[in-house]
Amino acid sequence: MSQFANYIDGQWVDGASVSRNVNPSNLDDVIGEFAQADAEQTHRAISAARKAFAQWSLSTPQQRFDVLDQAGSAILARKAELGKVLAREEGKTLPEAIGEVGRAGQIFKFFAGEALRVGGEVMPSVRPGMTVEMTREPVGVVGLITPWNFPIAIPAWKIAPALAYGNTVVIKPADLVPGSTWELVKIIAEAGAPAGVINLVMGRGSVVGEALVSSPDVDAISFTGSVSTGRAIGAKCFDSGKKFQLEMGGKNPMVVLDDADLNVAIEACINGAFYSTGQRCTASSRLIVTAGIYDRFIDGMKARMRALKVGDALADGTHIGPVVDDKQLAQDERYLAIARDEGGTVFGGERVEGSTRGYFLAPALVTETTPAMRINREEVFGPVASVIKVKDYQEALAVANGTEFGLSAGICTTSLKYASHFRRHVQAGMVMVNTATAGVDYHVPFGGRKGSSYGPREQGAYAREFYTSVKTAYINPGAV
Ligand code: NDP
Repeated sequence: MSQFANYIDGQWVDGASVSRNVNPSNLDDVIGEFAQADAEQTHRAISAARKAFAQWSLSTPQQRFDVLDQAGSAILARKAELGKVLAREEGKTLPEAIGEVGRAGQIFKFFAGEALRVGGEVMPSVRPGMTVEMTREPVGVVGLITPWNFPIAIPAWKIAPALAYGNTVVIKPADLVPGSTWELVKIIAEAGAPAGVINLVMGRGSVVGEALVSSPDVDAISFTGSVSTGRAIGAKCFDSGKKFQLEMGGKNPMVVLDDADLNVAIEACINGAFYSTGQRCTASSRLIVTAGIYDRFIDGMKARMRALKVGDALADGTHIGPVVDDKQLAQDERYLAIARDEGGTVFGGERVEGSTRGYFLAPALVTETTPAMRINREEVFGPVASVIKVKDYQEALAVANGTEFGLSAGICTTSLKYASHFRRHVQAGMVMVNTATAGVDYHVPFGGRKGSSYGPREQGAYAREFYTSVKTAYINPGAV
């Protein structure tokens, strides 16, 4: 059985115990045994990051560019192989997994450039003879806590800006899928990151995550995951004076208006709701459809859903891979039962037999729902979408905004008037017109509003708001 160690202060070290990483498409396939850190080992990683910060925070932009650029090239060159690891441990299809790895590589390339671009501003002072300079400095040791659904892209979009701006890192990937992050950290180490600059501690959130969040030696925490965990982490960071950033759940609306191109709308909804097994925080989980197109839309969705092949993530022709584990499968089925109990009608959503033992679930469309039903209020995080019938655009917009979340939102329409109004008035961090709510570029900001996100945006040049601290200097040349 392959063994995978933690990476602390430039050394691969065994953990206090190990955990098995199992393929959700085939429960007889074990990817390997991964080290589980305890609190003491996590503190050693934090100390190593603290020590390395002294040098790395003063490294030249060229040094940081070189490490990130080389890591980006290595990720891109090994896209197919790393994509297989990802599909095997998380269950998204091989093309989706290779796409995610490609995105991780591009993120490293982008932030290699950012290391060179981060500058400052100079302004004349309001006082005679003085100048004011605003510069950015790294925040310090950052703790990164990531979820299971994007096991290489999310670690990449946190690690790359952290290192580009001169911070040192301790990362804790989701216990369920540590393999892709392990490969990523190895690539960064091999690209020349000095000892202690990047540290990997795998293990449980309640142990390793907790140790990161409670350590006085960690300056900032960037978290992606569920709302309940995120809020608890945020409260602890606030109490201990840490900078923090939370990316959490979504209940993303996709509005389909009478004047939509039906094929465009159906493709956007199939992709947004069901691809990656619906396990995306940006998934279109509420389809809000006006009465004039409703029947044609539902018929078209059902026809497309019948043609979707559910099965082994690594097999050719699979459209939807397995659910990630038994707990998530039970959650998906529980929500389908709740939707039925509340009066909804479920199309699909049955278990699918594969040639291997895996967690296969057919995509499900829940009709006859109202905005107040739990299926329309709570995040399911599976291949499940519900449909809400509305009379017109105004009602659609009100329903779209009637949620505690605000990550991504979409509209399918051929009307410039409605598309423009929606773009301005929907309460979400990201808005999509005639395209799926999920699937974003790597060089622009990512994040939401309301209960979905807290703190500065991730990705693109906006990431510097979190990973740097601004210093304002007043200079009186006469006295120097
Ligand atoms: P969780 O919130 O359960 O876990 C996220 C991470 O936090 C994991 O690494 C987990 O560790 C860790 N963690 C758990 N408890 C603690 C704790 N007490 N202290 C510190 N860390 C802790 O989410 P999931 O991994 O289950 O991911 C699914 C959720 O993430 C969904 O709700 C989804 O909406 C959301 N998500 C949001 C995204 C966004 O950008 N808005 C993107 C992707 C997902 P462990 O390994 O033990 O689980």
